[in-house]
Amino acid sequence: MSLPAELMPAVLDALPDPLFILSASGRYLAVYGGSDPGYYHDGRSLVGQYISDVMPADKASQVLDQIQRSLEENRLLKVEYPLAATEVKGLESADGPAEMLWFEGHIQPLAEPVDGERAVVWVARNITPRRELEEQLRLASVIDPLTRLFNRRKLLEVLAERFAAHRRYDEACAVVMIDVDHFKQVNDRYGHSVGDEALLAVSNIGRGMLRENDLLARFGGEEFVLVLPQTDLEHARQVAERFRRAVIEHLSMHYPDIPPVTVSLGVAAMREEDVSHEGALNRADEALYEAKRRGRNRVV
Ligand code: GH3
Ligand code: MG
Ligand code: MG
Repeated sequence: MSLPAELMPAVLDALPDPLFILSASGRYLAVYGGSDPGYYHDGRSLVGQYISDVMPADKASQVLDQIQRSLEENRLLKVEYPLAATEVKGLESADGPAEMLWFEGHIQPLAEPVDGERAVVWVARNITPRRELEEQLRLASVIDPLTRLFNRRKLLEVLAERFAAHRRYDEACAVVMIDVDHFKQVNDRYGHSVGDEALLAVSNIGRGMLRENDLLARFGGEEFVLVLPQTDLEHARQVAERFRRAVIEHLSMHYPDIPPVTVSLGVAAMREEDVSHEGALNRADEALYEAKRRGRNRVV
């Protein structure tokens, strides 16, 4: 069987996601569906208006481009875009989700012109929860859960970018490798969770010293790496020295039963002869090893 034609408007209005009929020139010809205010705003008031009159210029021109593309290529086009009700004139933001939403738009050309103009069907699905989950996963893949610092994966990514800038624009970049001294004693004497707190304290000391473009990462265990763009070796040495002193000042007295908690630091800079970011990283590691060898609690 097929449904009686007079039922079609009710069917369209029961569509879970809003469906817009949009002309090539960007006029809202009809709006159906998407009536649940938990997900969508009622867009019926837009009918008859032009996208460029109700949306900010940049978003309106994007939408128009996408309509054009779908029409030119005469195929289904899928796009993802952020949009808040406050960005669309005529929508009452209180009548639906107030926050910035993410939509997946499915744009399909209509076979027949409407009012002498070509037109598309644009179905907009609210995919905000999925985007948020993706964002959380993306963050989790680059963030260390204990310290909330970037992890080794992100560090290596950033170092590679910095090395590229060093290569191309001769931009200086220093790397500081940091290792907590005799850290096993904190765990052995006070337990693992106190050890975790100490690592968090070290990372917070480092975090407090960062400039806008610096990066502090947890390299693993009780090792951290500081990346200092546009910084020469001498400057980096001073930063490392401040780090070392801050750890003595803020941390070492918390553990009276063991020798003071200190850090050793190895400093290196990217060099012209380096072939990758590993050059500076390896030299920082060697310098750190040397700091350990010379008695720890020092910068080399
Ligand atoms: P050194 O001065 O030579 O660096 O001595 P160390 O004791 O710091 O060095 P070692 O590498 O022998 O020990 C590092 C310790 O760090 C061993 C490990 O149990 C501890 N550690 C690594 N990751 C964590 C962590 O996430 N939490 C805690 N509590 N301890 C950790
Ligand atoms: Mg270590
Ligand atoms: Mg150590």
